[in-house]
Amino acid sequence: MGTLQLEVVTPDKTVVSTAVEMAVCPGVEGEFGVLPQHVSLLSALKIGGLRYRIDGKDEYVFISGGFADVNNNVLTVLAESAERAADIDTARALAAKERAEKRIAEHADNIDMTRAEASLQRAVVRLQLAQSR
Ligand code: ATP
Repeated sequence: MGTLQLEVVTPDKTVVSTAVEMAVCPGVEGEFGVLPQHVSLLSALKIGGLRYRIDGKDEYVFISGGFADVNNNVLTVLAESAERAADIDTARALAAKERAEKRIAEHADNIDMTRAEASLQRAVVRLQLAQSR
């Protein structure tokens, strides 16, 4: 069946650059799979886990939202932040979760609430992905 090239890129670094058998992305309208020789596609991503398969084994990467672009058998994921499940610092994510929950409980203004909810969502997904390694 072959492979497609997966590139997960943030403003700081390339997090993943490898040939994969398939990938499943956290699209804003639901998860979608990308197989080798997929048609061209551009999709917005939400906070979630990107799953990809190499040699029949699943790997997970945290994605803070962003965009997925499929072109010429290359899936490029551009995200503000991303890290492999193996690199997730659980204590840091727990601390971020507690901070966000405290801010939400304090009922700050709407802008702060939106930010706190996004921060909470990132922490919850990071903790879930840390379980999958
Ligand atoms: P925090 O409040 O702990 O900084 P955050 O959700 O605000 O969390 P981001 O803005 O998403 O953090 O990411 C900032 C940088 O820190 C990115 O490079 C991201 O990969 C890294 N990062 C954030 N949280 C973790 C974590 N729990 N484990 C490993 N890397 C993390």
